[in-house]
Amino acid sequence: MKIDGNTRVIGIIGNPVRHTKSPRIHNYISEKLDINMVYVPFEVTGDIKTAVKGAFELGIVGMNITVPYKTDVIESLSDIDPIAERIGAVNTLVRTKEGYKGYNTDMLGLERAVLSEGINLNGETAVLLGAGGAARAAAFMCVRNKVKKLYILNRTVSKAEDIAADLNKYIVSEGLFTKVITLPIDEYNSIKEDELIVFQCTKIGLADTDKAVINDTAFYDKVKYGVDLIYRDDTEFINLVRKSGAKAYNGLKMLMYQGIIAYELWNELSVPEKIVQGVKEVLENG
Ligand code: NAP
Repeated sequence: MKIDGNTRVIGIIGNPVRHTKSPRIHNYISEKLDINMVYVPFEVTGDIKTAVKGAFELGIVGMNITVPYKTDVIESLSDIDPIAERIGAVNTLVRTKEGYKGYNTDMLGLERAVLSEGINLNGETAVLLGAGGAARAAAFMCVRNKVKKLYILNRTVSKAEDIAADLNKYIVSEGLFTKVITLPIDEYNSIKEDELIVFQCTKIGLADTDKAVINDTAFYDKVKYGVDLIYRDDTEFINLVRKSGAKAYNGLKMLMYQGIIAYELWNELSVPEKIVQGVKEVLENG
């Protein structure tokens, strides 16, 4: 990588941030497209508002935002993409003349990942396990892609209800028709439909790969596709989905596409498929 007086800077703000795989994605694309741009992590321990103001004054072209700042960053923006505003979380800032515009490329990345696997959500029944930030992005993605019914299951059911309330406002405003149902996670047996498209959005499986939030094989018998947002391929959820004979996908493509979409927004270009495949290999190889 060549750094000179013309090098432009992009990066990620979060805390913690040292574990991030994002520099690999973006620096690989810059190298392959011969774009003089470098991506660096910024661990912010103080005030996010000051950090965003400082980034703008320093001429930083774009930023990813990760835990714990995805919601708090919104008040520092000059503009926000309507769907990111609905979700209530921003993970990508794009420089404009007035300040940064916020996007949610987690949602867009999951959408591109799902479509790239040939999964069509239109008219289907989807189930979300979890109701944290990732589940919120998945929920809006499902509704936007016209699922007929969406179950949101969580240990803390009030968090599922909060997402459902925001989704219902979106459904009404867009003239959509999804029915949203919330349940405590241990009541998964009350789901009577089969051919389910299930998104595993809890943290279970990230560190403890032998654990799944639902272990009952009868549940997995009703699954058509299982998508684990965790980007490992050896989680117990993935194992249980595959054992039932259904197709399972991990979160690596979501991670990859949220990054690629951010890069496309920052540079106003479309990353060619050959480079997308290269990014995938870079991520798969560690
Ligand atoms: P979060 O906001 O902290 O939410 C965590 C979720 O996990 C909540 O629903 C929580 O339930 C549930 N949970 C945690 N421990 C549990 C337990 N012992 N039993 C039952 N449920 C439990 O986290 P997040 O940001 O949504 O991230 C969730 C996962 O998605 C993480 O593993 C993350 O790596 C992954 N992710 C992947 C991508 C990608 O690009 N592939 C992007 C974002 C996130 P309660 O509400 O009851 O606490």
